[in-house]
Amino acid sequence: MDNQYLQTINGDLWLTEDERENLKISYRIKEVLFSKQSPFQHVMVLDSYDFGRMLVLDGVVQTTSIDGHIYNEMISHIPLNLHPNPEKVLIIGGGDCGVAREVCKYDSVKEIDMVEIDELVVSACKEHLPEVSGNLSDPRVNFLFIDGVKYVENKQNEYDVIIVDSSDPIGPAEQLFSKDFYTNLYKALKDDGLMVCQSQSPVFHLDVLKRSYSHIQSLFPITKLYTAVVPTYPGGLWSFTIGSKKYEDVKSDNFSKDTKYVNQAILEGCFKLPEFLQQALK
Ligand code: SAM
Repeated sequence: MDNQYLQTINGDLWLTEDERENLKISYRIKEVLFSKQSPFQHVMVLDSYDFGRMLVLDGVVQTTSIDGHIYNEMISHIPLNLHPNPEKVLIIGGGDCGVAREVCKYDSVKEIDMVEIDELVVSACKEHLPEVSGNLSDPRVNFLFIDGVKYVENKQNEYDVIIVDSSDPIGPAEQLFSKDFYTNLYKALKDDGLMVCQSQSPVFHLDVLKRSYSHIQSLFPITKLYTAVVPTYPGGLWSFTIGSKKYEDVKSDNFSKDTKYVNQAILEGCFKLPEFLQQALK
């Protein structure tokens, strides 16, 4: 079964991700579980040999059953443990439902608005990627299938925590890395609210990381960068940037949330940055 992203080579099916001009990464695929074009992007769920099931958007791997939890736990539990009492949470993007699944682990959270542009990603992941989506059906999650950029344009003082789980800054996610968008997030947060976004690879996208960081730093009194290693993302090392109006220290001293990657030591240690990143942020 070939399409523009899959090729059969010597009888084996391969997904080849075009990372950059001089870098391609190929995954040997067992089975195509889902493949369809939405109005926004080409959506696939594939079963691969080394990474298990994976969500692939426009040929780019977004999350997998082997390492998706690392990213989803890191982008959720770190901000939720800086805020002392998160009640109302906004997720922008996050169609694989892995972030919403982590946020649902907090009893303090009463309401989760999940604003995903592409309904097809959610339905495909709920059906074919239960390892990541957890077949999410928590009544606190309110799904809104609209553009996150538009959604935050007129929001004021509404959320405790905003999590931007976006795809790469091309196509529908491009504006999710703009200063106007971060400005609207600032307004949408309560007076003590905080936001987090994935800010790409410190190795291959340092320009994007620095731009996002400096936009956020120009708006929020507290800006914090942290990293984790996610094997399926190019370069492995991945970054997340927090913009906070008030809180900057981890509140919990005995973290326990049924996680596979985040623990108390990671919560406390993830903000320790390698030298090249400290220099890049100066
Ligand atoms: N964890 C992944 C990564 O870093 O590669 C990204 C997860 S993927 C679920 C990101 C989601 O953002 C996709 O489902 C995509 O449809 C959604 N998205 C992209 N642009 C968006 C926009 N403008 N508004 C809302 N959702 C958007």
